[in-house]
Amino acid sequence: MTIRTRFAPSPTGYLHVGGARTALFSWLFARKHGGAFVLRIEDTDLERSTAESVNAILEGMTWLGLEYDEGPFYQTKRFDRYNQVIDELLANGLAYRCDCSRDRLEQLRDEAMKNKQKPRYDGHCRNHTIDPNAPHVVRFRNPDQGSVVFDDLVRGRIEIANDELDDLIIRRSDGSPTYNLSVVVDDSDMEITHVIRGDDHINNTPRQINILKAMGKEIPRYGHLPMILGDDGARLSKRHGAVSVMQYMEDGFLPEALLNYLVRLGWSHGDQEIFSVDEMIQLFEIEDVNKGASSFNTEKLLWLNQHYIKESDPLHIAHLLSPHMGRLDIDPTTGPDLVEVVKAQQERAQTLVEMAEISAFFYKDFQEFDDNAAKKNLRPVAREPLEVMREALAGLDEWTAEALHQLVQDVADKLEVKMGKVAQPLRVAVVGRAASPGIDVTLHLVGREACLRRIDKALEYISLREQSA
Ligand code: GLU
Repeated sequence: MTIRTRFAPSPTGYLHVGGARTALFSWLFARKHGGAFVLRIEDTDLERSTAESVNAILEGMTWLGLEYDEGPFYQTKRFDRYNQVIDELLANGLAYRCDCSRDRLEQLRDEAMKNKQKPRYDGHCRNHTIDPNAPHVVRFRNPDQGSVVFDDLVRGRIEIANDELDDLIIRRSDGSPTYNLSVVVDDSDMEITHVIRGDDHINNTPRQINILKAMGKEIPRYGHLPMILGDDGARLSKRHGAVSVMQYMEDGFLPEALLNYLVRLGWSHGDQEIFSVDEMIQLFEIEDVNKGASSFNTEKLLWLNQHYIKESDPLHIAHLLSPHMGRLDIDPTTGPDLVEVVKAQQERAQTLVEMAEISAFFYKDFQEFDDNAAKKNLRPVAREPLEVMREALAGLDEWTAEALHQLVQDVADKLEVKMGKVAQPLRVAVVGRAASPGIDVTLHLVGREACLRRIDKALEYISLREQSA
């Protein structure tokens, strides 16, 4: 049997982390078994579905590298097929038309509530003959007896008595098929063998199984993934911070870090935390998915992001960093090689946004010195070391990190001070702040011209300070 899984988002917003986790687990399961991963856009809710949302979902999946083998299939293009199935069910007596008024249905609901029962349709129209041209809905004739049993890949055996399920509407009065019907037709036509989805759909599964049985189709295996909670224990939502996958991209996260984070949301392999995509494919077992909900933890995601920033090929990071530099109005081709900048900063940033911010000075002069750093380091005592350094830098033959390192050392020796007494004012002069990579690498990447210009500015700052003292 060829394993076939699917991801079936409703395009009513961006791709959120919960959806991405569902997509990842379905994708991993297909990849692990050499199967196919199908993308299906469930856009039957015409009022809430948008083309922008479809694009946002595709963009999010592409960014995460969750490539699909088939699709995207759009449900709105398959209405004829759904109606064909509904007509067949009608013809076989497995579905029926219903013209119960809204009032009657409301009355049923009120009575059920009063008796503390689950509201359910009473099958009133099961044996009525209703004119197909008069307004009506179509209901599925749910079996009365027995129960639906399925062996959930995550939750284990689940059994629901048929008398708990009512005759659900499969075609609305406007002629459009409903969610449960279209999902079932699609899963069957697309030969999906494993339905892996969020556990918010677990109540739909017995109904879907009954429709599949009525159609005489095979029943796929189902695996329902536990919820993702925010740090306060409530279902993860916008108020917990970023939930859109592309927001994480904008906030400077690496796709591999987010994937690694998502795979651990509800799944584990011993106490291993770091998984490359190949390892995930190799080690992922749907049976190892937790039954209980998992909590989203931004600190851990940051930790993983920092890990991947540190460990990845600098060229790869440079490629991902470039748009973040662009957002700061920096064109990285107009300054030092971005790969060298990444090498210098790899240990120093948790996100690419942060890396861009602390690397801007390599490409453009900063507006102002950081107040504290300047107060502490650009004092009158720093004038001499800066002046001597300026002259030495202007005359240096070879502008290499090694030569620059030696030069700072030589100047410190000459002035009979510790190296820090020279390097720190110099750093604040050139970087604007008290923190940067090693002074030699920093000077090297900033370049001679900008170094001299910025030292002049620092000397001016010291003069102003002296005057106002
Ligand atoms: N379209 C549904 C959703 O976005 C998923 C349906 C399914 O996976 O069966 O929640």
